[in-house]
Amino acid sequence: MRIETDLKLGFKDVMIRPKRSTLKSRSEVSLEQNFKFLHSTATWTGIPIMAANMDTVGTFEMAQVLAGEKLFTAIHKHYTLQQWNDFLQNVTPDFYNYIAISTGTGQEDFAKIGHVITANPLLKFICIDVANGYSEHFVQFLKQTRLQYPDKVIIAGNVVTGEMVEELLLAGADIVKVGIGPGSVCTTRVKTGVGYPQLSAIIECADAAHGLGGHIISDGGCKTPGDVAKAFGAGSDFVMLGGMLAGHDESGGELIEVNGEKFKQFYGMSSTTAMDKYVGGVAEYRASEGKTVQVPFKGQVINTILDILGGLRSTCTYVGASRLKELTKRTTFIRVSEQENQIFTK
Ligand code: 5GP
Repeated sequence: MRIETDLKLGFKDVMIRPKRSTLKSRSEVSLEQNFKFLHSTATWTGIPIMAANMDTVGTFEMAQVLAGEKLFTAIHKHYTLQQWNDFLQNVTPDFYNYIAISTGTGQEDFAKIGHVITANPLLKFICIDVANGYSEHFVQFLKQTRLQYPDKVIIAGNVVTGEMVEELLLAGADIVKVGIGPGSVCTTRVKTGVGYPQLSAIIECADAAHGLGGHIISDGGCKTPGDVAKAFGAGSDFVMLGGMLAGHDESGGELIEVNGEKFKQFYGMSSTTAMDKYVGGVAEYRASEGKTVQVPFKGQVINTILDILGGLRSTCTYVGASRLKELTKRTTFIRVSEQENQIFTK
């Protein structure tokens, strides 16, 4: 047994220090980024915020709205080939820049994305997603996927430490997804005791990835636009959101009415709800590692998106970053023991 005594930090432990700035207005800030990738020769331009590949978030309906704003959606893995084909019939080539097809690491998953990609060769991004990105089997699957699709942009995760980010990049990932345990409907830390505070995970993993020419996604734990700004400030290239995008018209999940108030169901992809729906229940040898909750219904997702983007532009003006790209260079975090004033919060 060993103990690392360096304190690791989450979003709640820091604030971003304001800096002198020549920017007069938020409208002078550009949130668009241009990326080249480590393996794929594809390039990407857009606002690097992503909807999570959860069936209550990463839906086709969500992708249509987000792509219109140049934001990205990792489409959940439970759509059938037929649903993919029907949906993609009516989209423009530009749309393919803003979606990924997601997959687990079974050979049946590999076969399924094979069918969808053969029918829709313009699909450009593949997201290989497992709860525990430290398994040898996952690395093998990633290598197999890279061999099969040399020019697709491959996202792989989740991990939280620099050495594993490097291993995944060397095994064929272009972008590594970072986060174990911070998610709004995740119970991994409770069920297993395993995890890593998200801000420190981003700082350490971004450093490892950028050293090799790779990119990272901060996945999970953002509760406010301010957290999204902190994730970019810490060095993340993309930020993935689940809970913040749940509960809208475009999110999946059942609409429920309780005493005249509307809610939408939202659940983790390893929750009992998801496992009952897709794999006929929770296998005896495992525990569910996700929650099921009811989120107050929030209407159209575009309003939430504009709120997040407005917050992010404002962060940039506070530190004098005219482009999102400059935010991390201009970020100094201060460690704090307070956040917002909650006097009027119920
Ligand atoms: P959020 O933005 O809601 O805080 O986090 C979203 C992320 O939580 C997802 O992208 C995914 O990585 C993670 N997640 C989703 N469902 C589950 C689950 O059932 N269990 C765990 N451990 N993590 C989950």
